[in-house]
Amino acid sequence: MKALSYAALQKFAEELRSVSNRICRRELLCAASGLKPVRLMPHVDDAQALVALVRTHGLAVQEGRHSAWIRLDTGKGGWSSGSAEAGRGEEHRLLYVACDAADALRLREAEESGCPDTFGRELLIPQCCREMFCRNAAAASVAQNDFFGFTFRDVYQVVPRELNLVAQYFDAALVSHYPCAPHCAQSLRIARIADRITAVLLPDDARVNRELMRQLGLYSEHDGICLVRSKGGEAGWFAHAPDEVRATEDGRLVRALRQSTHFRASGTLLEFRCREKVWSESFDGVRILEPMEGMEASKPKDLGNA
Ligand SMILES: [Zn+2]
Repeated sequence: MKALSYAALQKFAEELRSVSNRICRRELLCAASGLKPVRLMPHVDDAQALVALVRTHGLAVQEGRHSAWIRLDTGKGGWSSGSAEAGRGEEHRLLYVACDAADALRLREAEESGCPDTFGRELLIPQCCREMFCRNAAAASVAQNDFFGFTFRDVYQVVPRELNLVAQYFDAALVSHYPCAPHCAQSLRIARIADRITAVLLPDDARVNRELMRQLGLYSEHDGICLVRSKGGEAGWFAHAPDEVRATEDGRLVRALRQSTHFRASGTLLEFRCREKVWSESFDGVRILEPMEGMEASKPKDLGNA
C-alpha cells in the first residue's frame, strides 16, 4: 500500500491539529502512513474543510453519494453506534480516504455494495473480527447496535492496554473495529502500529491515548461509562478516588462511583463500598476492563488457519 513520505507525513500531522476529533486524526495518520484506507463520518458542517485538507496533502478522497444520519447512543457522551432514518438525527457525510485513488474508490464501492464483510475486508479488518461482527449483527441491532458487549463478554476481564475500548467513548482508540475477543492477536497488532504512528507524528495525542487507556474502564449500556485510576485491592475490590472519576454523562454509574471508595464485580452486579456501607446495583451490559501493559495476544479459537 502507498504511503506519504516522512516529510509529507510530518507536514500533514502539523495541520491535523485543526481537526477537533482525536480518533479522526489517528485514522487520517493511519491512511497517510499506508496502514489502511479509512472511512470518516464528519458532521456535514465540517466535511468540506476536511476534504480540502486531505486533498491538499496528496491523499485521495471519495465522497459518499448520500448523507449518513446518525442516532446518538443513550449514556455514551456523543458516541453513535446506530443510524437514524434519513432526515432525522444528525447529518454526517461519508468520506473514504486512502493514499491511492483506486483504494479510496474500492472502499466506497464496498460500503455501497451493502455487504459488511466486503466493506470490512477493504478496511483491512481481520477476518476473525469480521466474522464476529456478521455473527452478532442481528443481536446488536436489537439494543443500541454497540458491539462492545460482544467483544468483552465477561463482567470483569483483563485486557491489553491498547485494546481498552472503554477509552473510545472518551475519544481515545487505536482500532476502529470491534475485535473478535479482548486479546485478538491481529487487532492488537493493528493497535500497536497505530500507537507507534501516533507517537511519532502526534506525540501529544499518543500521550493522551495511553493515559486514558491505562485507566480501569467501567461500561454500562445505558447508565454511563467511566474511567478510573485504580491499583486494585483485596478480594477483587478496586480502590478509587471518588472525585477523580471520568464519565460520559452524569448517570447512575458515575453517581455510585462518586459515593464510594471501592467497587468490584459480583456476579452480574456491581458492588460498591464506602466505609462500613456496602451496596450493589444492577446495570445493563455492565463490564469492568482492567488494562495491562505488554500483554500478549492470543489467536481466536474459531479460526484454525490464522
Ligand atoms: Zn479478531
